[in-house]
Amino acid sequence: MGTKKQGKDTCPYFDEPMKDCYCGVFNSLTIPLIVRYCFKDYQECPHYKQTVLTTSNQEVPKE
Ligand code: SF4
Repeated sequence: MGTKKQGKDTCPYFDEPMKDCYCGVFNSLTIPLIVRYCFKDYQECPHYKQTVLTTSNQEVPKE
């Protein structure tokens, strides 16, 4: 009831990563970031933030 959703969630982009997503490439540099962001605090991920900002700024054309 009214639970604040914070972290502990897998990023919605994890299944279909964007081109700059950490999870697009698994290596020793990206794995810690994947664990940190993609599986937990995706709302803090720079790519996620950028995408949310970009998409929320897009205007939907009206007829
Ligand atoms: S957390 Fe960031 S890097 Fe990971 S899938 Fe989401 S947007 Fe991409």
